[in-house]
Amino acid sequence: MTETDIEGLERKFLDSEGMRDEHLGIYKKLIAGKTQIEGQDGGVVTSILVAGVGKGLFDCVIVAERIEGYNAAPKIAEEIEEIKKAKGTKYVQCPMVSKIGEAVKSGKRRIAIVGTPCEIRAVRKIQSVLLKEVPQVEITAIGLFCFESFYHDKFVSKTKELLRIDLSSASKIQIAKGECMVTVNGKRYKTKIVNLEEMVRGSCHYCDDVTARLADISVGSVGSAEGYSTVIVRSERGEQFLDLIEFAIGEVNKDEISKIVRFKKAKVKDRK
Ligand SMILES: Cc1cc2nc3c(=O)[nH]c(=O)nc-3n(C[C@H](O)[C@H](O)[C@H](O)COP(=O)(O)OP(=O)(O)OC[C@H]3O[C@@H](n4cnc5c(N)ncnc54)[C@H](O)[C@@H]3O)c2cc1C
Ligand code: SF4
Repeated sequence: MTETDIEGLERKFLDSEGMRDEHLGIYKKLIAGKTQIEGQDGGVVTSILVAGVGKGLFDCVIVAERIEGYNAAPKIAEEIEEIKKAKGTKYVQCPMVSKIGEAVKSGKRRIAIVGTPCEIRAVRKIQSVLLKEVPQVEITAIGLFCFESFYHDKFVSKTKELLRIDLSSASKIQIAKGECMVTVNGKRYKTKIVNLEEMVRGSCHYCDDVTARLADISVGSVGSAEGYSTVIVRSERGEQFLDLIEFAIGEVNKDEISKIVRFKKAKVKDRK
């Protein structure tokens, strides 16, 4: 997708009255938040989905559930317990958009979807087509910050070799500040992220959208304290759903986000 395509989709789906930042893209609000739900970080994503379904504002949500090994699969969820069960980051590719057609065919019209920046770009392309065919469809796109993701099988074998752990037993994986930390049976194992370079999916080497520029609301960990989510609100829709939830407010370091975006852009440029 070219920069012109992206800007066209920003104008179509986001709040063009919002501020435009060279590194963050279009945004209305930048905050750090910690909710009552213990998610990957501040639980903001799961809290928004739970509130939207609980208040009858979403017919369904599309989340990534953990399946065998350390794999993930997209799931159409309508129940709060299913949404809570799918919390937490899976650092592997998950074809989220594949579920939009199924949801629409089964009569769902108000759909929320979570995804990495590449998935959110695909969501906007599909949404552009859907709007002509089924104009009643309303999609709320919740983007996750993403620096890279891994090939599942290689990730499993490399962590076995480096850390002597079975990734299928991992209760949480956190990648931050150059390290990959895996929790297995309450014990933490870590390795430097450079040791996992070969496991990175090919397409990630050419992707420079770290903050999900086309999402209604983007959520990550970079820029806020441990246990908080960094939240970028980009559209009125995103603001409406963030307003549904309660959270403790923390401080955001915007420079940290800009730094990671600049770093990724430079890495992509070097590859070209
Ligand atoms: C591959 C990947 C790489 C990431 N890299 C970074 C990074 O470099 N820096 C950073 O700041 N943040 C990164 N994140 C985002 C971060 O890990 C958290 O997901 C984010 O901060 C939201 O936290 P939360 O507590 O609000 O989420 P939670 O409340 O725990 O909810 C997370 C939601 O994301 C969904 N989900 C989990 N994995 C996937 C997936 N693979 N594809 C689609 N949906 C998924 C879950 O189903 C759940 O609905 C990454 C996320 C992914 C998936
Ligand atoms: S780095 Fe880019 S291509 Fe790779 S998973 Fe993240 S958003 Fe997708």
